Amino acid sequence: MGSDRTVRINAPAKINLVLRVLDRRPDGYHNLWSVMQTVRLEDELYVGLSARAGIRLQCDEAGVPTDGRNLIVRAAAAVLARAGRSESRPPGVEIHLIKRIPVSAGLGGGSSDAAATVIALNALLGLGWSRDMMVSVSAPLGSDVPFFLFAPSALVRDRGEAVTSLSVTGARWVVLVNPGFPIETRWAYEQLSAGRTSVRPLSDALRRIERDGSVAWEQVVAVMENDFDAVLVPTHDALGQIKRQLMAAGAEVALLSGSGATVFGVFRDEATALHAQAALGKTEGWRVFAVPASSVPLSCEAGGAPRPAPVG
Ligand code: ATP
Repeated sequence: MGSDRTVRINAPAKINLVLRVLDRRPDGYHNLWSVMQTVRLEDELYVGLSARAGIRLQCDEAGVPTDGRNLIVRAAAAVLARAGRSESRPPGVEIHLIKRIPVSAGLGGGSSDAAATVIALNALLGLGWSRDMMVSVSAPLGSDVPFFLFAPSALVRDRGEAVTSLSVTGARWVVLVNPGFPIETRWAYEQLSAGRTSVRPLSDALRRIERDGSVAWEQVVAVMENDFDAVLVPTHDALGQIKRQLMAAGAEVALLSGSGATVFGVFRDEATALHAQAALGKTEGWRVFAVPASSVPLSCEAGGAPRPAPVG
């Protein structure tokens, strides 16, 4: 990468175990109430400081922008600005992204990459920022970004910037199925708003999770819901088909993640999850991943050179 010091950091995908879209705010955004969980499907970032000024991003996947449209570049610029460093003076920032999380899929890949960039630069530049400080730098980048600073699980409210730790006890595997078409988040919100006249209040079970700050997988499986599910599943046949196949393969529950189009099933054990992955993987065009529903908190380690992405 031609940089003096490099760190490696994994950026995990997320799923929404609960996603309630509440009232529309005066600023046009909606208030959210979501239980979010990272899963072990991860992008890999190599972040380095360089003697050459500027922010440069390389990505192994064609189709992912590497300019100012990429949240990684915007995150790096936000960190430099808040740290009082000029982008036109060294040190510059060089980042190599190995993309494994499907894009525009409701899995928060870009947001996770952004949070990972903030964490890596905090370490590389020796800024010593607290998590609260990193939340304040990353919140303007997107509503899912602050969550990743609280991985593996958290309760996310308001516009996404009000994040509180939540422990989800026990263990599960998930099978993620991406049908191969994107659903634009903005469009999904428009469909949701057009189809409803009032907002359902939060259930007592969800209020209890909020109060306790801890929930067991058995309990959360029983209350999982996503407001986009009712709007998008009837209009996209593949989503209903995936849900039915996941349930037939032994999932405890199957639900859309975020505003889709990835659907995930929750499984008690690895063997059943791998079996489901093999069964659903037979459909051409679907990308299927079986992974543990957990990850470690995002943190960086001494880097080295990027390894090539595995095939498949
Ligand atoms: P969102 O709900 O924000 O759409 P998502 O998880 O469904 O989130 P992402 O994979 O984060 O989708 O990508 C959404 C859009 O962001 C795409 O149009 C993509 O080109 C752009 N993008 C910006 N930065 C990244 C990144 N680091 N990785 C992937 N996509 C990115």
